[in-house]
Amino acid sequence: MRIGITGTPGTGKTTIAEALDRSVISLKDFARGHSLGEENDIFEVDVEKVDQNLPEDCWVEGHLAHKINLDYCIVLRTRPDVLEERLSERGYSEEKIRENVEAEKMDLILSEAFERTTVYEIDTTEKSVEEVVDEINEAVKNKES
Ligand code: ADP
Ligand code: MN
Repeated sequence: MRIGITGTPGTGKTTIAEALDRSVISLKDFARGHSLGEENDIFEVDVEKVDQNLPEDCWVEGHLAHKINLDYCIVLRTRPDVLEERLSERGYSEEKIRENVEAEKMDLILSEAFERTTVYEIDTTEKSVEEVVDEINEAVKNKES
């Protein structure tokens, strides 16, 4: 199974991936490492090429993870006011913050993910990292059985 962890930047994908008891591929690192994209001002990931090159059995995380072929997609969510704080602490520009907070308010990634595969949504706002990890493990166990 190919399992993805997606969500608006700041919702906790990388934190959760690191806390999971398995190796999770960072979509961006994988794309960079295999030159699957174009280096312009920023590195633009070629999602289609990533899809072709990723193993069939893997976990992958990133805000583009729902755009590749997945068997199951975990969508992490964060309440917009909390997300705004996190992105502002991260030093994002006002424009970037607004863009991402708006996307989160509109369920943008969730709806894109729903168009493509089976989705499991988790609002992590009031949860600890451990609680989110347990919930993901449980959801995936049920999906596999
Ligand atoms: P992303 O990879 O989605 O951009 P990060 O994992 O880099 O997000 O950042 C998420 C931030 O939110 C981290 O600073 C993390 O400590 C914090 N955070 C607080 N609560 C949670 C939670 N329940 N799950 C994940 N991250 C959380
Ligand atoms: Mn990340």
